[in-house]
Amino acid sequence: MVRFVEENTKHMEKETGNISNTDVTTVKKKALQDLNINNGVNSWVDSMRACSPTHLKSLMKRSSWLTEHPSALDMFGEILHVSEGKQIVMFLDYDGTLSPIVDDPDRAFMSKKMRSTLRKLAICFPTAIVSGRCREKVYNFVKLTELYYAGSHGMDIKGPAQGSKYKEDKSLLCQPATEFLPMIDEVYQKLVEKTKVTPGANVENNKFCASVHFRRVDEKNWSDLANQVRSVIKEYPQLRITQGRKVLEIRPIIKWDKGKALEFLLESLGYANCTDVFPIYIGDDRTDEDAFKVLRDKRQGLGILVSKFQKETNASYSLQEPHEVMGFLQRLVEWKQLISGA
Ligand SMILES: [Mg+2]
Repeated sequence: MVRFVEENTKHMEKETGNISNTDVTTVKKKALQDLNINNGVNSWVDSMRACSPTHLKSLMKRSSWLTEHPSALDMFGEILHVSEGKQIVMFLDYDGTLSPIVDDPDRAFMSKKMRSTLRKLAICFPTAIVSGRCREKVYNFVKLTELYYAGSHGMDIKGPAQGSKYKEDKSLLCQPATEFLPMIDEVYQKLVEKTKVTPGANVENNKFCASVHFRRVDEKNWSDLANQVRSVIKEYPQLRITQGRKVLEIRPIIKWDKGKALEFLLESLGYANCTDVFPIYIGDDRTDEDAFKVLRDKRQGLGILVSKFQKETNASYSLQEPHEVMGFLQRLVEWKQLISGA
């Protein structure tokens, strides 16, 4: 890296004649910054490719990966066994978990069958949807008043509209990033303007965060789009960029993520420091790893990664796609109905 900077500085000296020590320091600093920034952009794009894999190689490696992260459907009996005597609490991501990933994020509808399964699930267990989308948007997809909703990566949490048999306080609301709302609005507008030169780029305002979707952008333009996002966000040190499945997400630098949302909800439900609770978190994305990690660190409950491909994960089990998630949820409902004599 130092050699790169020195060569770059020499090149500048050649181009511009002799330059002062201050200029040299500035040039070195700038070159280092650019290098770091470019490394950042490259690593986002590389990570995005890695978590949106389409290559046969990944498929072939899946069989060995499955040994470490077996199918939650195959291991259903074992999961019931370890949860025995504990209150199961369900946490579900939305995109790619309950609904398929589609090119147009506004059309990520879930099936009627999935909705019906979720309704039954919420009768059997406290159930929360934890999504990167804004809470209102994810509610409009799910349309079930019985659930808890944690939108904007858990930065906007609300309890069941009709109350819940698990929670007396019907006004449960947690919005730890309210002060950032005007900034996110401003950044959203700038991102829309900046990225409109990239065909297929789509910017979504998720209230407490903004998402730049790469789903309809040709892969050869991913680096350009990531650079456009970076050029807007570098003016905002209070915001950070995280990367998910064909998406870059811009959110406030606060210590809050899906893992914190999971802890907050468990606490709100009266299960803080309880040993007789068994949270199950199902998600498909990098951002869900924060929740998987909380469960793994607490040695409590379990995480299930939804993926057809092998991925680095803190989850213990796996399911291939939303259809399998529905199968798993149905089996949980049937088991609960059976033991309750319903
Ligand atoms: Mg997802």
